[in-house]
Amino acid sequence: MKFLKLICSKCKESFVPTCGGLHYMTERFTNNMLLFCDKCANIDKYAIDNVKLTKSNHYGSICDSVEVRFKDGTIQENIEYNYFPETKFIRLNECELPEYTQTLIVEMIREKLIEKGLM
Ligand SMILES: [Zn+2]
Repeated sequence: MKFLKLICSKCKESFVPTCGGLHYMTERFTNNMLLFCDKCANIDKYAIDNVKLTKSNHYGSICDSVEVRFKDGTIQENIEYNYFPETKFIRLNECELPEYTQTLIVEMIREKLIEKGLM
């Protein structure tokens, strides 16, 4: 039998999940699974409340921007992204948010595009 030690992707400490499940996220590009301890999952300063698509230009790819509202009430506007309809690939342009937050934003953009019938 093997033993799997869980290491939080954010604080890098080992942890034991207490709520009967694991907080996790799949990293963009690599598809690595990121695990988060309960503490980091719950007091995440970058926890996202909602995203709003703010403009839309249709070329070969859709260059668009998104407004992100965080759970602490702060709002970050005009985070630009490209969406390539043929491959269904979404890429955020340079921004200073942590990688796992960007991954989450991309997934939320994907949901919105599906809602709008653009994907
Ligand atoms: Zn942690």
